[in-house]
Amino acid sequence: MLRDSFGRVATDLRVSLTDKCNLRCTYCMPPEGLDWLPNAQLLTADEIVRLVAIGVERLGVTEVRYTGGEPLLRRELVDIVSRTTALEPRPQVSLTTNGIGLARLAEPLAAAGLDRVNVSLDTLDPATFKRLAHRDRHADVIAGLAAADRAGLRPVKVNTVLMRGVNDHEAVPLLRWCLEQGYELRFIEQMPLDAQHGWSRDEMVTADEILQLLSGEFDLAADDLEERGSAPAERFLVDGGPARVGVIGSVTRPFCGSCDRVRLTADGQVRNCLFATEESDLKTAMRAGASDEELAERWIAAVARKRAGHGIDDPSFLQPSRPMSAIGG
Ligand code: SAM
Repeated sequence: MLRDSFGRVATDLRVSLTDKCNLRCTYCMPPEGLDWLPNAQLLTADEIVRLVAIGVERLGVTEVRYTGGEPLLRRELVDIVSRTTALEPRPQVSLTTNGIGLARLAEPLAAAGLDRVNVSLDTLDPATFKRLAHRDRHADVIAGLAAADRAGLRPVKVNTVLMRGVNDHEAVPLLRWCLEQGYELRFIEQMPLDAQHGWSRDEMVTADEILQLLSGEFDLAADDLEERGSAPAERFLVDGGPARVGVIGSVTRPFCGSCDRVRLTADGQVRNCLFATEESDLKTAMRAGASDEELAERWIAAVARKRAGHGIDDPSFLQPSRPMSAIGG
């Protein structure tokens, strides 16, 4: 098992398939993009599936989430998903995506066994989308969401980051729209993970503010805490349910004490936290000929060193040198 020194057990593996993205969301990367990882440094599809299999078959991983960068840009995605869903014991397999290309890929991904998707959408307005993501692709995202729903990749979850003066006036319309479509909306507090290091606490729309914005229009009742378990989102029943909305207060309401996540970057580094400043290199060991058992031991040792919390509120907090797109959000 992947147990840390505080007794937490990591069962939820987030795997970044690429650091590249076809959007340039302002809270993530600069308009000109970043220096992408050279191809030779990226794990191959076989290497990814080998490490995921070690996680699932030997180390107790029960959920695998593919992310990035933008995972739909990875040509072998459908193959990677189908090889993951063929593992025993069968893990839950999901995808976090910006939805561009999902209109075409939702059906093949569902056929490969993908269980569900989280699609990022910060606005209902194509002009705001273009301003925020520096690309005119709003219609593609909406089409991707609809295709995911048709393909049965449910519950279709929508991730939204609110920014002051940009889209914070859309909290209510976004929730109303998601309720109409049957999607589950989750608001995520903006975190200090942008490559430009432009995050500021004052600019962040907090979980409290989000709940205040929504409570003016909807009746929100906290969902059963028992059910939350290790999930990052605090969930609320909307107008008596069954529809729900989630709020992920990563900064102001941290959930590190129940964190069950571990991450694998696109270049084969184990990370215990989005905000970790240390990584453990599985790729080099794997390419040097390490056995599955040796890789599992390295992974166990890496997770044992997991820190108690992300420490954003510590005076000594340092933003990790890798941006979100290179870690895998
Ligand atoms: N490209 C995919 C997508 O758009 O969902 C997957 C990767 S993206 C890094 C994963 C999620 O992280 C998205 O929902 C995105 O909005 C969120 N994200 C990126 N930077 C963030 C930040 N600084 N704070 C909070 N969420 C962020």
